[in-house]
Amino acid sequence: MSVHYLDHAATTPMRQVAVDAWVEHAGAGNPASQYASGRRARSVLDSAREEIAALLGCEPVEVIFTASGTEADNLAVRGLFHAADTNRIISTPIEHPAVLETVTALAAAGAEVELLPVTASGHIRDFSALAEPAAVATMMWANNETGAILAVGEFLAAAAAAGTPTHLDAVQVVGHLPVDFRELGATSLAASAHKFGGPRGVGLLLARRSPAPRAVLHGGGQERGIRPGTVDVAGAAATAAALREAVAELDVEPQRLRGLRAKLLAAIRGSVPEVLVHTVEPALPGHLHLSFPGAEGDSLIMLLDSLGIEASTGSACSNGVNRASHVLLAMGVSESDARGAIRFTLGRTTTDADVDAVAGVIADVVTRARAAGLAFG
Ligand code: PLP
Repeated sequence: MSVHYLDHAATTPMRQVAVDAWVEHAGAGNPASQYASGRRARSVLDSAREEIAALLGCEPVEVIFTASGTEADNLAVRGLFHAADTNRIISTPIEHPAVLETVTALAAAGAEVELLPVTASGHIRDFSALAEPAAVATMMWANNETGAILAVGEFLAAAAAAGTPTHLDAVQVVGHLPVDFRELGATSLAASAHKFGGPRGVGLLLARRSPAPRAVLHGGGQERGIRPGTVDVAGAAATAAALREAVAELDVEPQRLRGLRAKLLAAIRGSVPEVLVHTVEPALPGHLHLSFPGAEGDSLIMLLDSLGIEASTGSACSNGVNRASHVLLAMGVSESDARGAIRFTLGRTTTDADVDAVAGVIADVVTRARAAGLAFG
């Protein structure tokens, strides 16, 4: 049975250029060591840092290697909050848990949190909370579930007018849309290598020199003291190689994905009665987030999996229990409709054959999932 992978927003296969760079530098030593092998490792790390900086429009010193997008988000949100002398945080209700849970933990420790309201399409409705200064304002650039691209220009301009430092969670955007950190003017920005064909376990935090996040982790002072710990040189080289290739494809790949997504949506709408489409423009080109009311997302995924089609509900589930997505609930989707959500995300390796495979089975899969009904309630 051939496998049709349609979960590229969860992770996308490593690019060959990244594998090659990874293998080439797998034996690199500690880039902080002063002797020859350390200096060689340092030179590979410096090149990776310079290349990433050039591709993302920042200074090499502003590139901080982390172990995940989650870590980059935590270091930035906590670090900027603790670097400020006010107690207020501004965010949104549709953040990935990497930001949402960090903000929730800071709120439990006494921070005053205000969330920007969202529309039914999953975009931000009102930025006026940014008029009052805050310790940090943190927002995702594009949503991992729906693919909605948020108005970062408006967000950053409003925060800057109040003198509020800003963090952008750009994990779904870097390598998928052009990014120019200098031009944006954000204080910090998080990315994750495995979302653009780099290795799992490498994140990027772009952080301006000032205001810099206060250290959350303490150690040997690597990465400006913001992310201490010996840096993974092979991972950094592989990340730079993957990003170079991803950015070079930006002229053509989004259009190709839009075409495939339109075909997939037309096929689903043509064969399944009652479909709710949660992906509304402006949105990432490879996302298609839907609900089939009356079906359980987990049933849809298991039925598709049994047919070799890999997709997800799009939301982080805890302990295997399918909860209605906080993103869909914030958009005003009912709890039962949210439980019937499924996310297809197309990417670099997606072809017409993958779309045709879904088109060929989706009507039957939804009928069977609807017959099974909702697990509880
Ligand atoms: N932020 C967003 C928007 C994401 O989609 C993800 C991953 O799904 C993360 C943060 C976390 O990234 P990582 O998997 O590298 O920890």
